[in-house]
This record gives sequence, structure tokens and C-alpha cells, in this order.
Amino acid sequence: MFQSYQDISDPSLAAHRVEMLRQRLKELQLDGFLVPRADEHLGEYVPAYAERLQWLTGFSGSAGLAVILPDKAAIFVDGRYTLQAAAQVDGKLFEICQLPQTRLADWLQRHARRGAVIGYDPWLHRMAQIKAEKEKLASQEISLTPLAQNPIDEIWQDQPTPPRGPVQAHPLKYAGRSAADKLADCQAELKAAGHQAAILAAADSVSWLFNIRGHDIPHTPVVRAFAIVHSQKKPELFIASQQLSKALREKLKTVAILRAPEKLPDRVKALAEKAAPVRLDPMLTPQYFAETLKQAGAAIVQASDPCLLPKAIKNSAEIRGARNAHLRDGVALTRFLHWLDCQTEGVENGALTGVDEIAAAQKLEQCRIETGKLKDISFDTISGAGPNGAIVHYRVSESSNAPLVGGSLYLVDSGGQYLDGTTDVTRTVPIGPVSHEMRRHFTLVLKGHIALATARFPEGTRGCDLDPLARAPLWAAGLDFEHGTGHGVGAYLSVHEGPQNISKRGTVPLKPGMILSNEPGYYKPGAYGIRIENLLLVTKPAPISGGERKMLGFETLTLAPIDRRLIDVALLSEEERVWLNDYHQRVASTLAPHLAPKETDWLQEMTAPL
Ligand code: ZN
Ligand code: ZN
Repeated sequence: MFQSYQDISDPSLAAHRVEMLRQRLKELQLDGFLVPRADEHLGEYVPAYAERLQWLTGFSGSAGLAVILPDKAAIFVDGRYTLQAAAQVDGKLFEICQLPQTRLADWLQRHARRGAVIGYDPWLHRMAQIKAEKEKLASQEISLTPLAQNPIDEIWQDQPTPPRGPVQAHPLKYAGRSAADKLADCQAELKAAGHQAAILAAADSVSWLFNIRGHDIPHTPVVRAFAIVHSQKKPELFIASQQLSKALREKLKTVAILRAPEKLPDRVKALAEKAAPVRLDPMLTPQYFAETLKQAGAAIVQASDPCLLPKAIKNSAEIRGARNAHLRDGVALTRFLHWLDCQTEGVENGALTGVDEIAAAQKLEQCRIETGKLKDISFDTISGAGPNGAIVHYRVSESSNAPLVGGSLYLVDSGGQYLDGTTDVTRTVPIGPVSHEMRRHFTLVLKGHIALATARFPEGTRGCDLDPLARAPLWAAGLDFEHGTGHGVGAYLSVHEGPQNISKRGTVPLKPGMILSNEPGYYKPGAYGIRIENLLLVTKPAPISGGERKMLGFETLTLAPIDRRLIDVALLSEEERVWLNDYHQRVASTLAPHLAPKETDWLQEMTAPL
């Protein structure tokens, strides 16, 4: 199984560790130290050795930052994680600060002395982050100083070693384009822009560019490698030779110079030999590279990672793969939903069903494993019964595990990693009889989901332009949800990838071939959560009958029933009802050939026209 349900944090260990860190900072003559949750590639998931924030504080969320001063400490988390941080972190040791209301610089201005020197590990912070903090702190004469050695690594006795597992070639039939072709495009772009080279730190960019995949990070099949792509000469790929088979080494050698990871610092410094600027993406590159280039005297230009857009715009092989992966994943999810329905059938209000959150998540993972093609789940399944469904980033553990009870809603957000694609899907299902209010809220979320799924829009439309479509039915009812409506999704890569997204911050125009999620929700704290999530493919501009301009649109990739027992049909417009019926017709006819007779019968019922 790919998911563990152990309670992974122990706040009682924090006091001693914080004390050891303070002692070390004193020896280093530092007034403080920043501890982010990050590794050198700045991705969403990190290997065990990089879980420094969790080791120090007990907090196990995917984003957060601690700051340690001689007599005070704080941890900064966003709204998704304030409850979790309060539960996992010792409040006597750390002040828990919510972003964006309380920011690091404001807190330091209040608690650090004037002239304080705060250390940080330049490998673990984005260039943009360090720049922003430095600017805010300058007026207080508080300085941030990069350290050559991370003090936590010096005191963490049984720190795991960085993983360097085997790397696989990602077959051309799934990648759609060869590494040589992708590199040629990338180099042409650098040349046209007058850039000497680009340094690639994002593991998904490097993995995409060289058509390689790895298994060193949970749920994300990236290879933790760096690359320097020169505009005029062969790219350099930094990867440990023991990670490559002889065949893959020979294959990669045709497109890149392979170097040991230890050689990276010298090769970065060598970029100072030429006058043309080195391209760094300030959002995706550790401050280390900016510092090293600056010291060596190299010119820097800040621009987006050249792999971002071509990686986001899927080619025809990747689109074919995504459709196949979604068919397979839809079969697995539908089999799970059928099983769940059998377990909870006829349960009365308040009665136990015999299923709990962990049992459900395990069954769902089992259904995905039974496809025979699952490489990993794409993230820890969010399996939220009743009130736990209202915690947007809920991770079920043995201590939080709750039973599914009659009269409640169950929210399950999950996905699979397959060689041909990455999936991400959420369904909300009724356990026994549910209230009118639950059905009304579910229907409002569904209306927003349909509004986005059916949107037509001109070229140049950005995610932020579409975001209100998914919220309007909720807004009209005086409701909203506190997360983005959609994120980009990789092709057997990260389940969350940029640069596009559908949210207030989505300023990147949507292009045909991009894959995004459509996941509006509604959350009633302490009671229940609702989310309906399908993945969408942006389709090519096409004419509209009676119209004058071609418009882009979406194809829904995800195939699984949306629970019609939760729909208040009276709240749907005729068009919405037709969309749902058509979608369900497609779900039933596509999935049925792959299901057992009992499952098919059930699916027919669940997708019968409204
Ligand atoms: Zn999801
Ligand atoms: Zn999602």
C-alpha cells in the first residue's frame, strides 16, 4: 500500500530539539534561523531527510516555515493548516501564526532585536521569497544571511540520507516528444532571448525535459536532478551515476553531459566566464544559485523556467494517455463507490456503517492497485467522514480515523499515478438519509462545477477570469469556499503543476492542451464538506453555431458518477440537467464494459437520467 495512517508527529520531542538548535545558533553567533518545509528542488513533496520542519516542530503539513530566535519561536502556516498546526505543535514553544495575516517580516520586526542576523539555508528558499523578506526587513536593520551548512543537519542524529534510487526512462509513446526535440526548443528560446543558459532546479521540469522518472519522493515520480541548459552547447545533467542503468546512461549521453551532483557548484560558477546572462526562475530556483552566480560575477536574468509552458501544454500522446488513465481510474473509483454503497446501504440516521475513513481509503487504493497499472497514488487520499470532510487538507491517521455514520456526508479526494497519466478526483457521497440543507449545498457546488465545465471563452482568457463562474451559484446564496477552483496537473508527474490555475491568482492564459482541475466546494466547519472534482482538458478554438468567433472550451476527462441522490433537481436549470445526464451517459457507456455485472447494474441506476 502507498499510504500510511500512522500519527507521524510527536510534539513532546520538540523542546529538546529546539534547545539543541538554539545552542548551535549561539555557537554560530546567529540571532535566529529559518526552517522551511522544503528540499533543494522546492517541490510540494520532500524526501524524509528534508522533513526538518516536522522534525523540529512536529508539524507535518505540506507548507510551513518556523523561525527560531534565542528566546522565542514561531511557525507560519496558511489557512489550510492552522487547525493541524495547533494540534501538532507545542504552543508553549512556538507561536502559531496564520499567513497571510501575520507575516515573517512583521513577526521578526516585533520580536528580533535591531541589527539581528538571521541565518537561512540558501538551498531551501525561493529567490523571490528571500528578496521579499530582505526588502521588508531592511528598515529594521535585520539581515538574512545564507549559511553554508544547515544547523539542523548538524544536530539531527538519525537524519535519513538523501535518496538516490534508480531512474527510469519515460517511454516516448507516453512522453510524445523526444528529449532531443524538447531540448532543441528550449535552446532556441534561450538563444532568441539572448540568455547564455538556464538553470533548472524544479525536479518535474528536469524529469519532463529529459523524459526520465524516479521513485525517491512519495506520490510524485520525479527525479531529483538539476540541469544547466546552455543556449549554444550540450546541456549538463547532474545525476548520480549509480541511479542510471547502463542503457539509460548511454541514452542520456546522446543529449547531455552527465555529471555527478557534487560538480554542480563549480559548473554554476563557471557560467561567469561568459557575459550573457543566466536565466533563473525566481519562483522555482533556490537562492543558492543567485548567491553563487553573484559571487562568481555572472549576470542573472529573472524569467520563467523555459519548461513550464511546454510541460503544461500536453501533446497528442500525453492527451491520449490522460484519456486512457482516466478511463482506468474511473473504473477503479466506480468499483469503490459501488462497494461503499453496498456497505452503507439502508443505514439509518446516526447508525454506524462498519466502514471508517481508513478502511475506505484502503479499499479505494486496493481498487486502483487492481487495475494492474498503478505506480503510486498521486497524493495521500483525503478520506473525510462528516466533520472531517470540512477540513480541506485532511489526512486521516489512526488517531483521527472516524466512522462513516448514517445521515452524514463522506468526501473522498484521491488520485493515481499511471505511466500514461496522473489523476485527481473528488466525490462526495451520502451515507444513509441526508438533510435538505446538504442537498441544497451540494447542488449549488454542482452548478458551479457545471458552469466551469461548459464554459466557452476566447483565447487569452486567464484562470482568474473563469474562477467566478464556479463560485457564482454559491455567491448568489451568500456562500463561498476558501481554496482555488483548479490547478494544473502533470503527465505522470506532479498532481499540482503550474503555471496555469483557476483562482484569483490565475494570471496565465489557458491554452489548448492544458489540463486543469475543476473542484469547487462548500465546507461547513464541524459538520460536513462538499467537493466535486473532475479534471478538464482545454480544447482547441472551435466555432459556435450562430456565433462569429471561435472559442476555447473544456473536455471533462474524469469518468465517475456524481451522486444524484444529493442533487435537488428543482435547483438545476434545463441546461445543467442536460449536461449532467449527458455526462452520466458517457460515464456509463465508457465504464460499463470494464465492470462486473453487479457493478454495471449499480452504475446504470446511479447514472439514470434526472
Ligand atoms: Zn483532488
Ligand atoms: Zn485537485
